[in-house]
Amino acid sequence: MLSISLLSPPYATLSYAAPAWLKTSVWKCGQRVVVPLGKGGMLRAGIIVSIDAEAPVKDGVVLKECLWPAEREPLLRPEYLAMVKQLALRHMVTEGEVLGGLLPAGLRTSKLRLRVLDGGKPRTVSLRDIAKMSETERASIGALWTDNRVEILDSSFDAEEQELCSLLVDPPWPVRPSAKRQIEVLEYLQDKGMLSRTRLLQDLGSSVSSALNTLAERELVRIGPREEGTCEACVEDEPECSFKVDEGFTLLPEQQAAFDDFTRLLHEDAPNSALLYGITGSGKTVVYLELAAEALAQGRSVMFLAPEVALACKLDSAVRSRFPSQECFFYNGYQSPAERERTFRTLAERTAPCIIVGTRSALFLPAPPLGLVVLDEEHDTSFKQDEGLVYQAKEVAYYRVQQSNGLLLLGSATPDVKTFHAVQQQAVSMSVMKQRAGEGRLPDVTLIDIKTLKRTDGILALECKQQIRDVVERGEQVVILLNRRGYAPLMYCLDCGHVARCPHCEVGLTYHKERERLICHYCGHSVSYPVVCSKCKGLHYLPMGEGTEKLEEHLSDILPPDTKILRLDRDSTRRPGKMQRILDAFANQEAQVLVGTQMLSKGHHFPNVTLAVVADGDLGLNLPDYRAAERTFQLLVQASGRAGRGEKAGRVLIQTRDPGHYCWQFVGSADYDGFFTEEIERRRKRKYPPFVKLALVRASYPLDWNKGMEWIESLTQVARTLGKEHDVRVLGHTPSPLPILRGRKRFQWTLKSDSWISVRTLYYAMRNAVPRGSKLRISLDIDPVNML
Ligand code: ADP
Ligand code: ZN
Repeated sequence: MLSISLLSPPYATLSYAAPAWLKTSVWKCGQRVVVPLGKGGMLRAGIIVSIDAEAPVKDGVVLKECLWPAEREPLLRPEYLAMVKQLALRHMVTEGEVLGGLLPAGLRTSKLRLRVLDGGKPRTVSLRDIAKMSETERASIGALWTDNRVEILDSSFDAEEQELCSLLVDPPWPVRPSAKRQIEVLEYLQDKGMLSRTRLLQDLGSSVSSALNTLAERELVRIGPREEGTCEACVEDEPECSFKVDEGFTLLPEQQAAFDDFTRLLHEDAPNSALLYGITGSGKTVVYLELAAEALAQGRSVMFLAPEVALACKLDSAVRSRFPSQECFFYNGYQSPAERERTFRTLAERTAPCIIVGTRSALFLPAPPLGLVVLDEEHDTSFKQDEGLVYQAKEVAYYRVQQSNGLLLLGSATPDVKTFHAVQQQAVSMSVMKQRAGEGRLPDVTLIDIKTLKRTDGILALECKQQIRDVVERGEQVVILLNRRGYAPLMYCLDCGHVARCPHCEVGLTYHKERERLICHYCGHSVSYPVVCSKCKGLHYLPMGEGTEKLEEHLSDILPPDTKILRLDRDSTRRPGKMQRILDAFANQEAQVLVGTQMLSKGHHFPNVTLAVVADGDLGLNLPDYRAAERTFQLLVQASGRAGRGEKAGRVLIQTRDPGHYCWQFVGSADYDGFFTEEIERRRKRKYPPFVKLALVRASYPLDWNKGMEWIESLTQVARTLGKEHDVRVLGHTPSPLPILRGRKRFQWTLKSDSWISVRTLYYAMRNAVPRGSKLRISLDIDPVNML
């Protein structure tokens, strides 16, 4: 009997019989297979998770037979399956959900074809054909399979790869407003990035097909295969190595000490985790690289993870220049499904040590035993995935090094409060680097109170404008952080005072001037602008507040006319290669000013930047999240770290409406230790993590379902009753901070306890109270990073 976890809904693990038409030795644990499901005989892909010698009749039920293997040798090794099982238990989902969430798309398909070589002309049969055959026919192909005379053809994915659509031009596009279909296609590509033609036509309907062709003829859209060796985030060709240390450099004393500490841990015959707490610019990368050399010398593999793709690219080029002859795999969510599938397969078979570099999803690549996993900028929230498959990369990474007695190295200038607490509890070792490598010094930080700033003045205080102008006139560079993209976050009807809102989410729509649209930042819904007020039919909207587009416009008004300004946010980096091009252009000093969202606070190195301005220092402080202060502190210290990395001293100006907040005294001197001491006391007093286990249960139902509220209330009853029994504090239900999203009403419960087991027990009962097929969706987020 084969236990098979399905890689698509219902994601269950089901029992199948090994069929008579194939030898039993064909089936192996970790192997991908195709099985029939349900009465209609739909085909689904699955993974064999265990094999038992039980009879195919169980309690009088005849088991269905597994149809065909999708590969000869299993893709996944036992250790990998063990990791999947552990993740499933931790987050209370099925193993199928875990596998479905982490395998590249091409490895989850059931649409396979076989090439049968039976002496005559080779013929192709699909698994669908096989499902319809008689047992005798199947048995004859089964015999050929055993003889190695049947091959599995590659999935249909490669065909899609030949027709990828991507934008060639940024908005505003030279298209007549009446060309609705063309605009629809352009907007969609701007929103989703590169897509295959098949997918585009699936999503928008085949009626856009001719519009797409027109756009391609007019060279607004490119259709074709991906150019080799490119990822969506990088430039067309091999990214140039932006990280350089001089030939024959020596480690600085602090780097040497850290390296010695970590090397000792690496050689221990036990798993370890350690923190490299080094200020921005202290030279953490070099330590990672030298340590990687140590691990490779031991014959073990190394994995580098970065919180976002531009930083992963930078790490990748650093790795390639340090280890020119070492095999290195680069992996990130922007790569094509085919490319990711190729890397996954190659690594699944590989036994020789290698280096893997990527974003968090690279963590799930099968790999030869790992000696070292480095998580750079470990405090970054993007190491937690909270949509779809929920996981915390740090936990998974630790699980992986445990399997191979390796070392998990976390690096940051502003560690996660939880990590630093673990250091104090001596669960994690730490090395500290307090000096900047090279010439750079930490910048001076000044707070600017903007409580009295009038709306008509724009978002920048006079003093900031003055300093920006001075820096530009001196020929130096400035970065300006504003964590809000678009032109204006609120559109206010001048005639009746109504605010334009998303019909699916009820949040205010953001005005994007370049695209002449109002866009919902939560679900992507958009309408073209100008738009008629839904309440009074007026046409006069007042854009309120300021996003990056407006700030860019404002700056070009107040700075000398030949000043070049670049903008870095999700909108300006949509086209393939754009992000890297903007960063490179700024690094090459082709522009004096870089305006951007938090994207630009992360890890980049611009030696000529002498001023960093944070336009909205307290934007994050008001979020309903116990970690708001921690987030703000980290973001601002990281942003400050962008200034003064070269020979010239740097300055940082932070605008705030809440200058009394305790966070500021520590941001000014980048005093992480001071911040930590204050913050951990607050958490201890208020019983927040790491002093309690905290989880969020989320539930949602469609807006038009009138039974929803009853269900929410009854779930609260379930939670309260069990909460008393199991010593779990239940807070809620409360409407989520975003109470309506994508047409669904949302509620949440906060669970606090000393034990994860109790939290899971409670969630289990809540989930089981919801009948199968209900319109109510419920999910568990352990240690949530995003409380919205
Ligand atoms: P961070 O700690 O912020 O990640 P980086 O690793 O980016 O810092 O290093 C900052 C700069 O210091 C880089 O340009 C790097 O080349 C330089 N650097 C690091 N270590 C040394 C060294 N031992 N000697 C000379 N320069 C160094
Ligand atoms: Zn919306």
